[in-house]
Parts: sequence; structure tokens; C-alpha cells
Amino acid sequence: VKEKGRDGWQFFSDSLQDQARQRLVITQGLRLAIANNELSPRFQPIVAAGSGRIVGAELLLRWHPPEGEVSPAAFIPIAEITGVIVPIGAWVFREACRAEADWRRRWGEAAPYVSVNVSARQLGEESLAQDFAAVLSETGADPARLLLEVTETSLMADVEANLRVLNRLADLGLRVAVDDFGTGYSSLAQLTRLPVNVLKIDRAFVNGIEQQRESRTVTRAVIGLGKALGLKLVAEGVETEAQLLELRSNGCDFIQGYFFHRPLEEAAFVAAVDREAGV
Ligand code: C2E
Ligand code: CA
Ligand code: CA
Ligand code: CA
Repeated sequence: VKEKGRDGWQFFSDSLQDQARQRLVITQGLRLAIANNELSPRFQPIVAAGSGRIVGAELLLRWHPPEGEVSPAAFIPIAEITGVIVPIGAWVFREACRAEADWRRRWGEAAPYVSVNVSARQLGEESLAQDFAAVLSETGADPARLLLEVTETSLMADVEANLRVLNRLADLGLRVAVDDFGTGYSSLAQLTRLPVNVLKIDRAFVNGIEQQRESRTVTRAVIGLGKALGLKLVAEGVETEAQLLELRSNGCDFIQGYFFHRPLEEAAFVAAVDREAGV
């Protein structure tokens, strides 16, 4: 019994140590990633549910240290805990602005909008709105064509504080989306107080549309709620035609997912939009 207990403890301790070591390696690597040019954006097209035409793109971060590629699912949570997400998020926002300005020079008013993830840690920075304003004016990006994605969980964690910062961002003309909607616990009263323009239906519900009645029910309810509040709806993680048809017939406006497009390198994204424009 004693041995078993020790083994159990030993195992636990090792895995915690491994976790801590991995966290340290990732954090130190991330601190240098910007200077070392190891970050790059991917752009996943967002299409109109009816026509399938590209209307926007979500910027998804990729990190390639010399050892290979690290998935954002592995490094973003750690970057949030350690706070490295703040300088990285600043880099990401600048990249989004740079893309918006470039694309508008190329396609004019028909250019796709740019959706960009903003973490709770960034929202907590007192200077966020001021910093974003400076990047907007340096890059010449149109704030109305930038959509800030904030997860429902981080949004609802501190509504009063977020209300202040989001109102400042909205005053700059930036748009706001609630990301991963349906996975957190939104108070509807709170939701109506926040300057929100878009709801993104979480992939977990989209996934279950074909097999699970509850997922179908939640998806319909979210679309109905969004419409009632005058918001636009984006469904993420759409992989099948059946999912697309269900979402479309329920009035979902926009679709993101492998059924249409995977996240693309910018050159491939530009080529896809050019192809649609008949260039
Ligand atoms: P997210 O914001 O929910 O982004 C959507 C994720 O779903 C992306 O994963 C995307 O590649 C993936 N996806 C899109 N369509 C499909 C599909 O049809 N099927 C499946 N199975 N997956 C699909 P990715 O790029 O690995 O990013 C993971 C998460 O990392 C993001 O989830 C987001 O929370 C975070 N992240 C990525 N880039 C950034 C960033 O620049 N800043 C911050 N703060 N977080 C980021
Ligand atoms: Ca997102
Ligand atoms: Ca999402
Ligand atoms: Ca998600």
C-alpha cells in the first residue's frame, strides 16, 4: 500500500514537473518568437452561408520555432497564464491591421474583413484602446473592417471591466464578436449591455448538429437569440454539407470551417479571393 501510494505520488510529481518544465520552455521561446520571426498568420476564409463567397477571414496564429511547429492550442493557454500573450497579441493585431489595409488597396470596398482573437489578458491592459488606436493610424486600417473576437468566457468573467474597455474599442470604430458562444454562461441582460456585433457559434454545437438533438436545439436557439438582438451569426467548424444546410435554413449568416476552407497562408488566401473575383 505504501509502495503504491509512493508510486502514485511520484507519478503525479513527475508529471507536474514535466508540465512546469514544458511551460518554461514554451514561455521562454515565445518571448523570443517575435524578434526571431517565428510567428506567422494563417487566414481562414469566412463565407456567406447562401453563396459560399468569401466575406472575411479569421487570423489564426502559427508558431514555428527551429524544432518544428507548435499548435496554438498548446501555446496560447500557456501564453495567457504567463502574460506573454500581451506582446504577442499586439503583434497579431498589427498583422491584422496590415492585412486589412493591404487587402483594401487590392480589392477596394469589396475586400474581406479581418477577424482577430483578443485574449482576456489583453482586455485587462489599461493602454489597450490607446495602443490599438496608434496601430490603426500607423497602418491606415479601417476599424469597421476589423472584428475583435473575445471568448464568451473571458467576456463574462468581468462584465463591468470589459464594458469599459469594449466601449472604448467600439468608440474607435472596431467591431466585436463573442467567440465560442454557447460554451460559457452569458447573462442575457449583460450581453445586451455590451457593444457586441457578432456571435460565433462554437464548433462543439456545429459538430453535434447531425447526431444530437440538443446540439441542434442549442444552435437554433443561439441563431434566434442573435437575430432577436440584431447580431450577425457565424458558425465555426462546419465540416459537412448537412451542417451547412441546417445552419443556412435556420438563418445563420456566415460559415467558417473545413467544408469550405482550411486556414491558409496569406498568398493562398489572396489567390482564393482573386479567383472568386474572376481575376
Ligand atoms: P478559435 O478562436 O475557436 O479558432 C478556431 C479554431 O478551429 C482554429 O484552430 C481553426 O483552425 C479550427 N477550425 C476551423 N474550422 C475547423 C473545422 O471545420 N474543423 C476543425 N476540426 N477545426 C476547425 P487553431 O488555429 O488551432 O487555433 C486554436 C485556438 O487558438 C483558437 O480557437 C484560439 O482560441 C487560439 N488562437 C489562435 N490564434 C490566436 C491569436 O492570434 N490570439 C489568441 N489570443 N488566440 C489565438
Ligand atoms: Ca476565434
Ligand atoms: Ca471560436
Ligand atoms: Ca473554439
